[in-house]
Amino acid sequence: MSKGKLVVISGASGVGKGTVLGRMMEKREDLSFSVSATTRPPRPNEIDGVHYYFVTKERFEEMIREGAFLEYDSHNTYYYGTPRRQAEEKMERGDVLLDIEPNGARQVKQAAPEATLIFIMPPSREELERRLRGRGDTSEDQIAMRLKRAVWEMEQRWWYDYIVVNDDADRCAEEILNIIAKLKD
Ligand code: 5GP
Repeated sequence: MSKGKLVVISGASGVGKGTVLGRMMEKREDLSFSVSATTRPPRPNEIDGVHYYFVTKERFEEMIREGAFLEYDSHNTYYYGTPRRQAEEKMERGDVLLDIEPNGARQVKQAAPEATLIFIMPPSREELERRLRGRGDTSEDQIAMRLKRAVWEMEQRWWYDYIVVNDDADRCAEEILNIIAKLKD
């Protein structure tokens, strides 16, 4: 079987997951990131094939029928999914990080019980709301929708293997890297 570990990272929108993941990959250059496919339109700074594979709804549904996803979910009115082959290929070369939400995390745990699931919490709900509002790309409606979903996501943290708090991106990245380093081969 493949030699790398599958590490799922979840956390509500606005928790600073992207920054933490970035720090982790700076500190451990052999870690790879599973690039998801999505039907969400790209944000201004996002690059196709780096942050996501941006695909049409038709293409995404075709990929579902082809069994191309390790897991997928529909939330915030868009589809998001992990292309199975890409994740497997990256695992041949080392540990792979998946930035996915709880419905996807549950599917990964079923398909690959050896996967490690880590949930990132904000220091407080107030801080999460502040960070969500600080994102230029979210309207009032979107903020309300994301906050509601954040509350649901945080309720899911109890069935994850580890819960970490992002009080500081560097420290949090270190904590997750320590968890990964201690996992058995
Ligand atoms: P955003 O639209 O802000 O980039 O991501 C919204 C949510 O989708 C985040 O919680 C992120 O973790 C989740 N997500 C990103 N890619 C995937 C994926 O491939 N599968 C699932 N299930 N969720 C994903």
